[in-house]
Amino acid sequence: MAGSESGEVESRLARIRIVLINTTHPGNIGATARAMKVMGLSSLHLVTPKIYPSAEATAMASGADDVLQHAVVHESLDSALAGCPLVLGTSARLRSLPMPMIDARRAANQALAESETHEVAVLFGRERYGLVNEEMQRCQFLVNIPSNPDYSSLNLAQAVQIIAYELRVAAQGFADISVQPPDWEPVDDQQMEGLFEHLERTLLDLRFLNPKQPKRLMMRLRRLFNRARPDQNEINILRGILKASQDAANKESGAK
Ligand code: SAH
Repeated sequence: MAGSESGEVESRLARIRIVLINTTHPGNIGATARAMKVMGLSSLHLVTPKIYPSAEATAMASGADDVLQHAVVHESLDSALAGCPLVLGTSARLRSLPMPMIDARRAANQALAESETHEVAVLFGRERYGLVNEEMQRCQFLVNIPSNPDYSSLNLAQAVQIIAYELRVAAQGFADISVQPPDWEPVDDQQMEGLFEHLERTLLDLRFLNPKQPKRLMMRLRRLFNRARPDQNEINILRGILKASQDAANKESGAK
């Protein structure tokens, strides 16, 4: 089997973290650990799980308790995404704001290509209503598991299983695909959030944004920069431009 020597595939997968957001049923957390371990994934992050730790999670993990034991529990999505330049958000639905949507197979190949050089996060939403808009806006891509359009929502742990399988297949085949390493290193989530905050403040100062309703336009701008995926140098240039604009706006308002 291509590239499947013991440990090689697992080490490729080690930089890909599975992030479960606000999970209701602890059984799903256990079943996720099992789904991951079977495919050689080990990095599980839990953002504000409703009930955890739990005997039900351990029972459902069925031998994958090591994945559970090493799971990191976070109070916020910010900390779960720290250090991740690529964030993929899984979704059963197409949302009102069209975001770049790719299927599970393409997502897995993208994740593997990038995990050569940096951390990758794959987000999974709540059982009842998935990911909220603010969470989707943290993602460069939304990932859909192709399914029946009239009944498209999988059980959470089963969705993790399919993504984990695709990641394994991609990791095994990866030795055969020559991927050019990108000559840029995209910045992580924290740097992107810093840019968006600075941009929003500046556009408010410039009165370009309506202070009563800044979110709609910011959503569009986030989409633009998430598509571009700037590196550190580009972030520095953009923030320099924002600072100069703020200074000019302040000078002008002071002169009046
Ligand atoms: N009713 C929710 C579905 C939640 S299912 C919604 O419409 O968003 C719980 C989680 O499983 C989702 O947030 C997503 O992370 C994953 N999931 C379920 N079905 C999926 C699919 N077809 N494609 C991608 N992810 C899916």
